[in-house]
Amino acid sequence: MRIVCAEQALVEAELIDGRLGCPSCREVLGPWGHARERVLRCRSGDRRLRPRRARCRGRLGTHVSLPEIALSRRQDEAVVIGAAIEASVGGEGCRRIAARLGVPEDTVRGWLRRFGGRAELIRAFFTRCAVWLDPKLGAVVPVGSVVADALEAVAVAGRAWVLRFGSGDPWRVASRLSGGMLLCNTSSLATGAW
Ligand SMILES: [Zn+2]
Repeated sequence: MRIVCAEQALVEAELIDGRLGCPSCREVLGPWGHARERVLRCRSGDRRLRPRRARCRGRLGTHVSLPEIALSRRQDEAVVIGAAIEASVGGEGCRRIAARLGVPEDTVRGWLRRFGGRAELIRAFFTRCAVWLDPKLGAVVPVGSVVADALEAVAVAGRAWVLRFGSGDPWRVASRLSGGMLLCNTSSLATGAW
């Protein structure tokens, strides 16, 4: 299971102090080596990530902490993937998006297909997150298609997060809220680690 955290250094300190809870059973997590290094393609250039592995003292399972700039199983930064989804909902074609973001067209197509296939799950999940973050929030108004509604729910949850915590890019917030699982092929989204 994955835990998404803002800063690698912060999770390190919390792990060592025993302040990080297991997303499955709420027992304390302790440090347990690192996951395999990976390269994340970011707007600012490639970044090497060496995600921390943590071990649950309860069930003895391990969890990987993924920084919120990344999404599970995706090689590109969350904000780049988000920009492609926004552009597509805004009517821009796949080829143009790919060229503008400097990403292979098939990769962009893959993101859009997965987001579209999970749109109803994403809409429902982020609407719940938004209400949890801001209980005074009114109804999220449907904007047209199921994909546009899903994008709107992500944006509303992002704004609710900013209202509550002060700052945050909406796609980083989306990564964090979904436990990095925004574009995974699973039936649930969050690990509950936030
Ligand atoms: Zn556990």
